[in-house]
Amino acid sequence: MQFELNERAIDATLGTLRKAATSLKAHDYQWRIAQLDALFQLTEDHEKAICEALKADLNKSYTEAFVTEVGYLQSEIRHAKKHLKAWMKPRKVGTPLMAFPGKSFHYPEPLGVIFIMGAWNFPFQLTIAPLVAAIAAGNCALLKPSELTPKTSALIAELIPQYMDKDAIAVVEGGKEVSTYLLAQRFDHIFYTGGETVGKIVMQAASQYLTPVTLELGGKSPCIVDKHCDLTVTANRIVWGKWTNAGQICIAPDYVYVHESMKDAFLAALRKAITSQFGKQPQNSQDYGRIVNSNHLARLSNYLEGVESIEIGGEIDAESLYFAPTVVLNPPLTSPLMQQEIFGPILPVLTYDSHDQVIDMIGSREKPLALYLFSSDEDIQQRYLAQTSSGNMCINDTLIFMTNADLAFGGVGNSGMGRYHGKSGFDLLSNLRAVMKRPFILDVFIRYAPYNSLKTTL
Ligand code: NAD
Repeated sequence: MQFELNERAIDATLGTLRKAATSLKAHDYQWRIAQLDALFQLTEDHEKAICEALKADLNKSYTEAFVTEVGYLQSEIRHAKKHLKAWMKPRKVGTPLMAFPGKSFHYPEPLGVIFIMGAWNFPFQLTIAPLVAAIAAGNCALLKPSELTPKTSALIAELIPQYMDKDAIAVVEGGKEVSTYLLAQRFDHIFYTGGETVGKIVMQAASQYLTPVTLELGGKSPCIVDKHCDLTVTANRIVWGKWTNAGQICIAPDYVYVHESMKDAFLAALRKAITSQFGKQPQNSQDYGRIVNSNHLARLSNYLEGVESIEIGGEIDAESLYFAPTVVLNPPLTSPLMQQEIFGPILPVLTYDSHDQVIDMIGSREKPLALYLFSSDEDIQQRYLAQTSSGNMCINDTLIFMTNADLAFGGVGNSGMGRYHGKSGFDLLSNLRAVMKRPFILDVFIRYAPYNSLKTTL
């Protein structure tokens, strides 16, 4: 789909948003609640249309689209509404003796206009969830959904102006050309979700105005299966985490490390879990997604070139963008499959002898977005907590941690910067203004010049 760059229209939209950002209107509690209510209403009134757009763009089943996008956002909005009053309150902090009598606070205030660039794998949720945080914090926002999922992008552009305050929240559709133009404009914060390459472009563009950025990126998220685990539950949870949305999830387990002695049992458990979740022919399953487009299908097919150890799957149907749930055993660590983020339905399974070997390997690579450990041994849990680093960690499960709005979600190092969801999103898009209030009494003179010897000895 071709998008036109209409610079005049964008400039006019940005002018309107900036004006609204400088008015007090957007700062007010009632305005924020009204916008959150309107957003909730939008998701309720158009649940079916949103799920249909996600079906058209990514073949998401209705249930998956509801749970991971619409329903997910509804609970994020409910959570924000429930806690908004408390989040907005000035936060009292201590005051040192030097400033006695006095009081000190952090006053959360809006930043201004937030530019939100969404990604295509959860094209509704990843564009709207940052908006929930932006509204809660009293900001105006410009949304740019991903061009790779055009049905969802068009629906967002159609619905947002129908429900939200048009002066404060706007949508611009487009691809690289539009993004490039937008990134050259002045914003108060840029919230980008996507890959590392564009992440660097965003950060470079933001430096022109010293605009703060949030980068929600990806990476190779490891999953370790220790000897002390329930293999059936482990396999079910890994299959769910890996093959929801056909593996196109930033926090999907990218590869699994399983103890050498459990290799065969683990592969058998994986096979069983794939069949029980998607049937013997995943291509016929209503619940198995498709690859977003032929470029990504070709990228993923290339990973399998020359690979001999395909244990499960491997079938591809280019016409319907189908890529089977695929498991590859022990690919070389130097292969593209083990060097690049897979972001698709291929799961490399590697075997290990000792946890030292796994921890060293993880430590030698960029810090991942998520790390999964399946082990009931608390010492092993503690070792991975202490000796590895990742944006997020989930012990004995996979994607489920995303349902907790109290957990601040984000990356570290190459997997991103900045955290959101719940209060962390509110704080991220607020200026926590430091305020000290002092009375006129007790004006201790020794701090003023001239600094004579009496004062310095005090
Ligand atoms: P994408 O292609 O949808 O790009 C994201 C945005 O960047 C789009 O709005 C697009 O218009 C813009 N863009 C693309 N090329 C550009 C250019 N040259 N200049 C300026 N803007 C440009 O997303 P993607 O990168 O294919 O997404 C996949 C990646 O996103 C994976 O690495 C995945 O792990 C990551 N991801 C991270 C999260 C998270 O929350 N951390 C969530 C989803 C995806």
